[in-house]
Amino acid sequence: MDSKIKESLINIVGPDNFTDALIDLVSFSYDSSGLNRRPAAAVWIHNTNQVAEVLKLANIHKFPVTPRGAGTSLSGSAVPQEGGLVLDMCPMNEILQISIEDRLVVVQPGVVFDHLNQVLAPYGFFFPPNPASGKVSTIGGNVATNAGGVKGAKYGTTRDYVLDLEVVLPNGSVLHTGSHTMKCVSGYDLTRLFVGSEGTLGVVTEVTLKINPIPRATTTCTATFYDLPQAGKAVSEIMHSGIIPSVLELMDSPTLQAVNQATDLDLPEVAAMLLVETDGYTQQEADYQMDKVVEALKNNDAAEIVQTSRVDEAENLWAARKAAYGVLTRLNYNVLAEDIVVPISKVAEMLAGILDISKRYSILIATVAHAGDGNIHPVIVYDGTDSGEADRVKQVEADLFKLAIELGGTLTGEHGVGIHKSRYMNMEHDSVFLEVMNGLKNLFDPNAILNPGKLGLKV
Ligand SMILES: Cc1cc2nc3c(=O)[nH]c(=O)nc-3n(C[C@H](O)[C@H](O)[C@H](O)COP(=O)(O)OP(=O)(O)OC[C@H]3O[C@@H](n4cnc5c(N)ncnc54)[C@H](O)[C@@H]3O)c2cc1C
Repeated sequence: MDSKIKESLINIVGPDNFTDALIDLVSFSYDSSGLNRRPAAAVWIHNTNQVAEVLKLANIHKFPVTPRGAGTSLSGSAVPQEGGLVLDMCPMNEILQISIEDRLVVVQPGVVFDHLNQVLAPYGFFFPPNPASGKVSTIGGNVATNAGGVKGAKYGTTRDYVLDLEVVLPNGSVLHTGSHTMKCVSGYDLTRLFVGSEGTLGVVTEVTLKINPIPRATTTCTATFYDLPQAGKAVSEIMHSGIIPSVLELMDSPTLQAVNQATDLDLPEVAAMLLVETDGYTQQEADYQMDKVVEALKNNDAAEIVQTSRVDEAENLWAARKAAYGVLTRLNYNVLAEDIVVPISKVAEMLAGILDISKRYSILIATVAHAGDGNIHPVIVYDGTDSGEADRVKQVEADLFKLAIELGGTLTGEHGVGIHKSRYMNMEHDSVFLEVMNGLKNLFDPNAILNPGKLGLKV
């Protein structure tokens, strides 16, 4: 890095918050996608003004800047540009306001998802999206990727809770996008534009989130199936049976086997298992919904249905589900976690298609899914050192995307486009959509300094 730029950065953040040490740069060069590029330097950010000053400097000297939370992105969206600057937002980790009367919290972007919910629990409130990475991923990262999770079927994704953002634009000016009210239509919905924008339009420095009261009663059940697509049919029937489960997750046979290898849960190693939770403010409400779920499961040939209202048993199951991605990484040298979404009525067809694709290319695909909202994660497990296998994985990936789009679906529901899916954006979107995206990028960031090379943008 040019010594004058280095000196200016040190002036902005202080000597202890600047690094160009190799050991740090290697750490900042990758995220959880497996992709990597080494930056020239990184800074630890403590306040909004520092972000503004760094971005003004970047605009003068035209160097690329990548904001970063915990680096758990699975799409390469947090991988910096070679030779660029990383803005580590983790030190901005204060919960600034909890207003139960107004049902909102105001937080800095470095607050960790689980920490926020631990702090909210004594008030009887929670922030629902619940990504499986919640122990480490940050609210800033969750906003920038529109994170979702096991509660998605009923409670939606991060986008549904963001009321207002403080964002530093690439030219250093500070924008407030919304309001601290439950409703607001005074102007374009800039909040939604920034949610899921993967750090390409601005750096989020403050987040105002709507929070929900914690439902007091839950009921949980598991159901096993001897046929994977049949489990998909059960999902579809549950979702149009007149209730909305709070959790509706699917794990297929390779995933169940991998969980068993890594835990003592001793799950049945059948073709598929559904984990379902219903919730409510009374036990009667949760049980009423569970009755409907069980009826749909029986109608769709579930082999065994086991119900529990015991919190410890249910927690073991959610822990197993959340561990699924981690345990699958132990099966071979490489894993590629896809994130397609299809309309709920097409879940069974997509699951059948995944089995076909896996067989056609002789590549192991383990599937976990937030099935209730049609969000399927086919996890491709392979040996990347075998060039033949690596080539087949590219075809597997393209076929998965093609099928999802043919079924009316999308490339990604929560992991984002990042670097990984950029080349597939024109498979899903036409030139009008992509031109509008590029036009917006150019409007906010004419010098293309902010997280370039992501989201399928030209810069
Ligand atoms: C084991 C595992 C399980 C996962 N499970 C889920 C899941 O269930 N649901 C889900 O949605 N995702 C999941 N993910 C993906 C990942 O955790 C999410 O995308 C998460 O929201 C990223 O948060 P982060 O703090 O790690 O952000 P990072 O990975 O550091 O960054 C992600 C993106 O956000 C941008 N960014 C970060 N902070 C800011 C900021 N302050 N301003 C502007 N841009 C910013 C970065 O530039 C990048 O584009 C999982 C990942 C792993 C490794």
